[in-house]
Amino acid sequence: MSNTPKELVVNWHITEACNYKCDYCFAKWDGNSKEILHSQFKVEALFEQIENIRHLLNKKSQMIYFDKLRLNLVGGETFLYGRQLEDIVNLSKKYGFKLSAITNGSLFNVENIELIAKNFSSIGISVDSLNEQTNLAIGRASKKGVFNPSEVLTAINHVKKYSPNIEIKINTVVNKFNVSEDLSNFIAQIKPKKWKIFKLLPVYSNKLVILDQEFSQFLQRHSNFESIISAENNDDMTESYLMIDPLGRFFQNGLADGYNYSAPLWETSAEMALQQINFESKKFINRYKRII
Ligand code: SF4
Repeated sequence: MSNTPKELVVNWHITEACNYKCDYCFAKWDGNSKEILHSQFKVEALFEQIENIRHLLNKKSQMIYFDKLRLNLVGGETFLYGRQLEDIVNLSKKYGFKLSAITNGSLFNVENIELIAKNFSSIGISVDSLNEQTNLAIGRASKKGVFNPSEVLTAINHVKKYSPNIEIKINTVVNKFNVSEDLSNFIAQIKPKKWKIFKLLPVYSNKLVILDQEFSQFLQRHSNFESIISAENNDDMTESYLMIDPLGRFFQNGLADGYNYSAPLWETSAEMALQQINFESKKFINRYKRII
């Protein structure tokens, strides 16, 4: 049986810090140490272990061969610490990682548009609403202003001009405030390769939660985009992807509320750390074959 080559995706939440204050924000981890993106030494040690994950999984799998690794940078807000982000990009090149990122779309500027166009294979933007009042109500606003869809559109057009093959992805969390909205025009203009639509889970915000039926209506309203929509919940994410927190630890949904953590990967091996979160490679690979 021949092994199918696949790209292994490792998600690293580089920081918890964000300029927005979304009511349902799930970017919160336990621990008091300094986030490791501020230490080149720790980031390099982390990257060594990230590369080891690919080799470890390849040894265990009969069906899949992970020929590439894509490091997906997540936040907090990924573009908040520009200098540290540049260091991460340079180090990723040294390790041969492909790069992608998720951003709230508020910090695009000339420098990071160029950084994205030159170095990232895909960029995901969180867009819940096109309406100023709705974005304010959700908390998608900073001291400098409210989420601005036309600025995002302009920035993405610039990125595409420099890097026509870059994949654009949109993430939307459907909640009480945006559940009746129609995002079709924006999606038609931005032409993403994928539109991930999440139903807000009560664990992240009780007050903004919606019914299954309301979620289905939201999907129905956007059925023209069926071919690019993938509807998932955040539990799917934490269980189907390898997730690393800002302190460099693997994390996974625990049995009770909250996450299980491994020791930081900059001070322990990937093999040990995976054992500490009861990672089951067979289960992971099977799920991976279905969703990636
Ligand atoms: S933009 Fe993302 S990280 Fe920032 S507050 Fe909102 S959900 Fe949290």
